[in-house]
Amino acid sequence: MSKRRALVISAHPDDIEFGCAGTICRWVDDGWDVRYVITTSGQKGVQDARQDPDAFGRLREQESTRAAEICGVSDVTFLRYMDSEVVYGPALLKDLARQFRRHRPHRLVVMDPQSLPTDMFVNHPDHRFVAQASLDITVTSGTTAAIFPELVLEEGLEPWRELEETWIFGPAGGPTVVDVTATIERKLDALQAHVSQVGEWDVRTFMKQRLAERARDAGYDYDYAESFRVLSYRRPQPEPVRTGAA
Ligand SMILES: [Zn+2]
Repeated sequence: MSKRRALVISAHPDDIEFGCAGTICRWVDDGWDVRYVITTSGQKGVQDARQDPDAFGRLREQESTRAAEICGVSDVTFLRYMDSEVVYGPALLKDLARQFRRHRPHRLVVMDPQSLPTDMFVNHPDHRFVAQASLDITVTSGTTAAIFPELVLEEGLEPWRELEETWIFGPAGGPTVVDVTATIERKLDALQAHVSQVGEWDVRTFMKQRLAERARDAGYDYDYAESFRVLSYRRPQPEPVRTGAA
């Protein structure tokens, strides 16, 4: 039997490790085939106006590839959009639709498209535009042959219509709570693979506090949790009708 596939689409190289890698590790342990698509290479994620963006992007791609490996993910695609310059439009929609049709996920994992998901900070515009486009292709160019017809006619990529769930991750979390106690060390190892971003920062302590709060605030007795908003396209089956005596 072919494996169940999940596709995670992020804006920046470290978004997945911050937001959902504990859950991804669980899915990999469960036998899921997980792939990543990373839209920018985080070329501008540094406080140095003289840093060469292309060289920095290459470094960050290496960090992401290593982080993915730690979680058991070997299929990582970089779209190489410029960091902080992503705009919503046909180019982004077509590029994401191509990946959606190529990877044919049963589960899609995307970022939160809201501009103010919490009262803590503004959600980065790259997160918002990539998230909105990732959601939109599931009802437009990912699933409809007549949209960007060249994807079929020139690239042989048929629409994919068997997506079952979309999981949304971000600072606001959501009502679907995943126990990541068994995978948190791997998640943190993966996060620390982003050496250019976390450096000497004690990110392990920070994340453990945050994920412990997430479990506690949701009323679960897990040590650590990630949480999501999940769109489910599978309609519940009606209860079988029983007639007469059992
Ligand atoms: Zn980001």
